[in-house]
Amino acid sequence: MTTSKEPVVIVGGGQSGLAAAHAALSAGLRPVVLEAGTAPVGSWPDYYDSLTLFSPARYSSLPGMAFDGGDPDRYPTRDEVAAYLRRYSASIDAEIRTGTRVTAVHPRPGGGYLVQTDGGDEIAAAGIVAASGSFGNPYLPVLPGKDAYVGEVRHVAHYRRPEPYAGKRVLVVGAGNSALQVAYELAPHARVTLATRAPIQFMPQRVRGRDLHHWLRVTGADLLSRAVLTRLVRHAAVLDTGVYRDAITAGLLARREMFTAFTADGVIWADGTHEALDAVIFATGYRPHLDYLAPLGTLDDGMPRHVAGVSTTHRGLVYLGLEFQRSFSSNTLRGVGRDAAHVVAALAAYQSGRSRRRLQPMTRLPVRC
Ligand SMILES: Cc1cc2nc3c(=O)[nH]c(=O)nc-3n(C[C@H](O)[C@H](O)[C@H](O)COP(=O)(O)OP(=O)(O)OC[C@H]3O[C@@H](n4cnc5c(N)ncnc54)[C@H](O)[C@@H]3O)c2cc1C
Repeated sequence: MTTSKEPVVIVGGGQSGLAAAHAALSAGLRPVVLEAGTAPVGSWPDYYDSLTLFSPARYSSLPGMAFDGGDPDRYPTRDEVAAYLRRYSASIDAEIRTGTRVTAVHPRPGGGYLVQTDGGDEIAAAGIVAASGSFGNPYLPVLPGKDAYVGEVRHVAHYRRPEPYAGKRVLVVGAGNSALQVAYELAPHARVTLATRAPIQFMPQRVRGRDLHHWLRVTGADLLSRAVLTRLVRHAAVLDTGVYRDAITAGLLARREMFTAFTADGVIWADGTHEALDAVIFATGYRPHLDYLAPLGTLDDGMPRHVAGVSTTHRGLVYLGLEFQRSFSSNTLRGVGRDAAHVVAALAAYQSGRSRRRLQPMTRLPVRC
């Protein structure tokens, strides 16, 4: 049986884990955050050097603490975000253990979970918040001939700065914000081509003199689910102040339709022509990093089975920080707090005994979203 003294274990000490800890404390639960890295700042220090937030500081806060320290309309840097998360973690009264990687989560026969760590600890937990992000699980598509290609192949997760690519022929694959940002900053240093499956869609950073995030908030678009949003917007779009579109129009950045295969020294384009390359950088996204949940048998080809972040297979298991977990803003600084309150409420309801069924794998639980 679970006891009220048992903590809720939060796996991951990034913005999602910290927002979960904040919500858990507010709900009267005892959170313990386990973070594999050396500080509770998530993956931000590992993002590329030049990264700045796409939302202004005023729209980039977690619950309970403003993103202060300057002009609220500035776009904070990667390091500012890490510093903000450090301050945030210090401001909440939660136990946070850094240097602690969760290796496995097992169900306990009478209910609850047993959490194992790389340090050999075993922690009995009343509930689990899986907030381990996706940066540790970059997605690389399978493409014909890739194994034969002898040049550099890298996921954008491992890209830091443009200088090592000076004078090289570089292909960036992808049509999202990271692809455009990296291709754009490489362009003055290297010969860059951007390969995308469809024409790139742009979204203006500013509309009628206000940052787009102002309008996302006042129109409620920030809270739209994926199902609703895809009915309104057919393709994902890149936020642009105009510089990316101009760079493509001016020929500084070449954009081509996705290539069909690798060769030993480059790629074959859709029109059959060959281009020799020194490096290919894939900005092709990420998948949730949840390998430690394998003993529960809850993952479906690596993906969690959930409704709005609440597991549909295990009571007392919730997720946070998934892309489109509940809305467009779920996987962002500004949106994760809303989801944290939602999933922690489900945990609290479970723990307070409103839900009496045992913590065992089930085919499907009735979950409200
Ligand atoms: C390049 C890039 C730019 C982005 N820009 C923005 C932006 O401008 N604005 C915005 O709001 N969002 C942005 N995002 C989206 C999102 O806000 C970030 O990805 C954010 O870091 C997600 O936070 P998280 O806490 O969910 O995951 P992460 O930051 O990845 O944190 C997860 C943490 O879990 C830890 N962990 C993983 N596995 C384990 C384990 N088994 N045991 C213990 N700990 C573990 C990791 O060490 C990590 O610290 C961006 C994302 C990327 C990739």
